[in-house]
Amino acid sequence: MAAEPQQTPKLPLGRGEPLLIVRDLKKYFPVKRGVLGRVVAQVKAVDGISFGVSGGETLGLVGESGSGKTTVGRCILRLIEPTDGEIVFEDTNVLSLDSGDMRRMRRNMQIVFQDPYASLNPRMTVGTIVSEPLIIHGGLSASERSDRVSQLLLKVGLSPDYRKRYPHEFSGGQRQRIGVARALATNPKFLVLDEPVSALDVSVQAQVVNLLQDLQDELGLTYLFIAHDLSVVEHISTRVAVMYLGKIMELADRAALYEDPLHPYTKALLSAVPIPNPTVRKTRILLKGDIPTPLNPPSGCVFHTRCPIAQFPICAAEVPPLVEHKPGHFAACHFAGAPLPAADAERLKGA
Ligand code: SF4
Repeated sequence: MAAEPQQTPKLPLGRGEPLLIVRDLKKYFPVKRGVLGRVVAQVKAVDGISFGVSGGETLGLVGESGSGKTTVGRCILRLIEPTDGEIVFEDTNVLSLDSGDMRRMRRNMQIVFQDPYASLNPRMTVGTIVSEPLIIHGGLSASERSDRVSQLLLKVGLSPDYRKRYPHEFSGGQRQRIGVARALATNPKFLVLDEPVSALDVSVQAQVVNLLQDLQDELGLTYLFIAHDLSVVEHISTRVAVMYLGKIMELADRAALYEDPLHPYTKALLSAVPIPNPTVRKTRILLKGDIPTPLNPPSGCVFHTRCPIAQFPICAAEVPPLVEHKPGHFAACHFAGAPLPAADAERLKGA
């Protein structure tokens, strides 16, 4: 009997027209040994992930450190070269572009880095930092660039008078605003926001998140918002993807993911988010052990070594595909939606 043709899994897309499509993206870092630099192993930082981002939406990408989320953002902009896969931005295959075309493409795709202290050159004035992308991409006279820098500083809530100052004269929140102004200089359509508020005080985080939301509304921007803080991601995202060991475990609309998660890993992450209400009692799910190394990830489902509902042999033998279980709600689990056993839960007051 002929084998049944394998169905291609449905791609998790947003509601609107896709601006960015990522298919089966992989990034393996070789581990080399010996004088000849022989490759003895591969660190699978990103291992075959697929998703789409619609114009004007924010896709939140969450996960613990080492889950591969930052690597995804850098691969999309080709700040590091992916090992395999496809990245399509507005019908252009990003991975087929030569360096000149890729530089032109980066007009439309920009990044805001996590650390506002390390990402701004301390020897450059704010005006030079913000105008640098304009010089690289050309097309404006010196006076037009100067006007554009003033506009950009105003747009991110800073005075144009700051252009002559240096980064060390600013607070963390102000520096991140400068980073956002630099990212907006070329009028991009898409921004990778790589943990943009993680290094900031809690009081300043909200200001920067609100600024990003205002800019999105005003300029029609599309965001990939990378973070480990689930509360911040919930605040800003349209949809949320949860990563673990280089794979997407679950991807859904924000409300569906936070109110009715299907994957045991998402349930565990959400159970650890503090609730600012002392009268609310919450069940916290404690995961066994640490996140395994991506140098030698577990077989089958990469989460099986910590999963409270793993069943054997299937969970250690078969990789669960990312499947649509409800409209727009994808999960990679052989037993998605199954309740977690009470024995693995610890009653906590608050969180
Ligand atoms: Fe747990 Fe198995 Fe689902 Fe993986 S596939 S999350 S190990 S139940």
